[in-house]
Amino acid sequence: MSVSTFKHVFGPVRSRRLGRSLGVNNVPYKTCTYSCIYCQLGRTTNLTVERRTFYSLESTVSEVSEFIGSVSEDVDYVTFVPDGEPLLDINIGREIFEIKNRVPKPVAVLTNASLLFREDAREDLLNADFVSVKIDVLKEGTWKIVNRPHPDLKLTDILEGVEEFAKIFKGKLTTETMLVNDFNTNLDELRVIASFIRSLNPWKVYVAIPVRPPAEAYVKPPTPEKLVEIYALFSDKLGEDRVELLNLPEPPEFYVYGDPENWLLNLVSVHPMRLSHALIVLEKTVKDPESFIRRLAERCEISLVNFAGEEFIVRRFSR
Ligand code: SF4
Repeated sequence: MSVSTFKHVFGPVRSRRLGRSLGVNNVPYKTCTYSCIYCQLGRTTNLTVERRTFYSLESTVSEVSEFIGSVSEDVDYVTFVPDGEPLLDINIGREIFEIKNRVPKPVAVLTNASLLFREDAREDLLNADFVSVKIDVLKEGTWKIVNRPHPDLKLTDILEGVEEFAKIFKGKLTTETMLVNDFNTNLDELRVIASFIRSLNPWKVYVAIPVRPPAEAYVKPPTPEKLVEIYALFSDKLGEDRVELLNLPEPPEFYVYGDPENWLLNLVSVHPMRLSHALIVLEKTVKDPESFIRRLAERCEISLVNFAGEEFIVRRFSR
């Protein structure tokens, strides 16, 4: 099978969470339990909660093993990240098991978590190495507005299922919260969300913003100021090391390597950084760190945002 004939795998794409990630598309386009207002794939055309077979298990698994067989060193993770909800595929548990049997790569699943109230769905994920669960809101009313779930779903059941899964899953559990300005950016609600996330004891907590055209034109990312506030709130509740911003370029380490400008822009894309800290780190590689930062601000690459008495550098983003 040549690479061009693959139907169920794509990439590998560079992913900040997973390195070089070979995507597995195990459900048809826009087959989902949700129709999120921010979905970059547009509105859901097949809104369903029925778990079933979409493709033959063997065709999916053999594509993964053939691909890895040809370009093994270019793949860090095999990731179920389809154009819809991966747990709608009733064979996903066996697919994960078979992939892990056939290729020496860890397997990740990015799910909206809406089917985790089902025991079979929770069990299907137990062999994965990395699972990301979506937690955008905890209020029923906001959930219906932001995630637009299938009418058979109940948020309380889903949250209980997520808690149950967090107790039994032995791999890396991560959460993902997509922030839509004025929909789920209320700090009091986010405080409750952060407490719920903390109770799951996840390995990492990702905060995402819409950076690609969303299903609904009224969806906007939070302002940089708001984002810093939310980042600070989450970091405070969950620990700075655990919280990262998603949808933006790969973060480097907290020391300068390579080109200092790229380094700083990449870093502040995911971790708003205290100006004082940046100046100290940059001192070793840049002659005049203050003018270096001022120039980036003048070019609108970064913003300096005052929050809680400190100046933070944040990446400017636009939609
Ligand atoms: S859960 Fe994911 S695929 Fe489904 S509508 Fe929301 S963003 Fe799109």
